[in-house]
Amino acid sequence: MSITVEKYGGTSVKDSARLKEIAARIAERKKENEDIVVIVSAPSGMTDSLIKRAKEISEVPKGREFDVLLSTGEQVSIALLAMALKEVGVKAISYTASQLGIVTCGNHNEARIQSVNTDLIREKIAEGYVIIVPGFQGVCEDGNITTLGRGGSDTSAVAIAAALGCKSVDIYTDVNGIYSANPQIIPGAIKHKEVSFSEMIELAGSGAKVLHTRSVELGAKYGIEIHLRSAFDWQEGTFVRSDEKVESAVIRGISGFGNLVRISYKSDKLRLSETVNTISKKGINIDLITHTMETNGGDEITCIVKEDYFEEAVEALNTISSPEDEILVEKGLAKVSVIGLGVRSKGIAASVFEILEKEGIEIHAVSCSEINISCIITEEDLNKAQNALHKKLIEEE
Ligand code: ADP
Ligand code: ASP
Ligand code: MG
Repeated sequence: MSITVEKYGGTSVKDSARLKEIAARIAERKKENEDIVVIVSAPSGMTDSLIKRAKEISEVPKGREFDVLLSTGEQVSIALLAMALKEVGVKAISYTASQLGIVTCGNHNEARIQSVNTDLIREKIAEGYVIIVPGFQGVCEDGNITTLGRGGSDTSAVAIAAALGCKSVDIYTDVNGIYSANPQIIPGAIKHKEVSFSEMIELAGSGAKVLHTRSVELGAKYGIEIHLRSAFDWQEGTFVRSDEKVESAVIRGISGFGNLVRISYKSDKLRLSETVNTISKKGINIDLITHTMETNGGDEITCIVKEDYFEEAVEALNTISSPEDEILVEKGLAKVSVIGLGVRSKGIAASVFEILEKEGIEIHAVSCSEINISCIITEEDLNKAQNALHKKLIEEE
């Protein structure tokens, strides 16, 4: 039995008109006896407004109750889509993550999926139902509701596809494919027919939120092709598939994101492992680390972290620092990245620095890998940097 797994993002289910359109399309395919599992996000803007409400009550909302709150957005969508399908004569049933058994670890607000029980899905599909599942939502072993982190519905979709043994998943959104940069910011961005898993992991991890990074990691792990496409024009979009199947491109895209903070820690008796461990143990991801040994003795470690976590990171460092150590914080930073399978070997780094320098953009830190050159710059330079790099390295090439 081959099952179609498809996911609709927030803008695709934002109001009744959109839900009715999706229901009509599913009804057409159901007539052909297709077995369909649908994963939906919260209506566009709902998760943001739930976070805003939480912040009115608690300065830094987190943990169990925050997940109980955030998971409700997706529940609105599953119920409404199931109702819309029934109205057009399709047997449909919605289930929460707890009812299905989408089991995650207990790391509230950033939980990772551990297993998906497909028994109920298979049973109801055999009875002719379309199954509607909330993205982003999970349940941990002690029965508490969890969420997967912002944008996590893509990961729910790929995990469910993997558990059902599917070879592909359709992810419907508000753009008609994956572009060489965010098309909402860079008007000259070029649509790709296909992108490799490795490139997409880097693009997403560097700010291209068109796919949740962990969804692409899961796609790569289980060999599930991701078709990213529009729920507005319904045309073919972009396929994310295994590296061997995709013709390599020197530069696949430019991405970036802001809200970063630099924490510089100077000490005479600093140990890199202890410093990084102290921050990581708090569950804080460090975006970039540099370590310099000063000629006059002492070391300096610079960590770039997301603004949401920097206070916690500084608190953690205070637990290991001495009064003579120095901890400096610089807010308002961003990261711009150039991604592609040949970026390091083709000497593109020098061009990246030259382009940014010509624009008068100061580079605060750099990291390079085989397929990613990233520069830390100020947030106010981010759009200018993305535009200049895209124009010189992609449009004019
Ligand atoms: P959904 O709610 O459907 O999950 P998202 O807002 O999470 O949608 O992701 C779609 C958005 O990703 C697009 O509207 C676009 O602004 C953004 N985006 C960022 N980088 C890219 C890119 N390289 N290609 C396409 N879209 C991109
Ligand atoms: N609703 C969640 C968010 O806005 C999850 C998702 O849309 O993927 O982050
Ligand atoms: Mg998304």
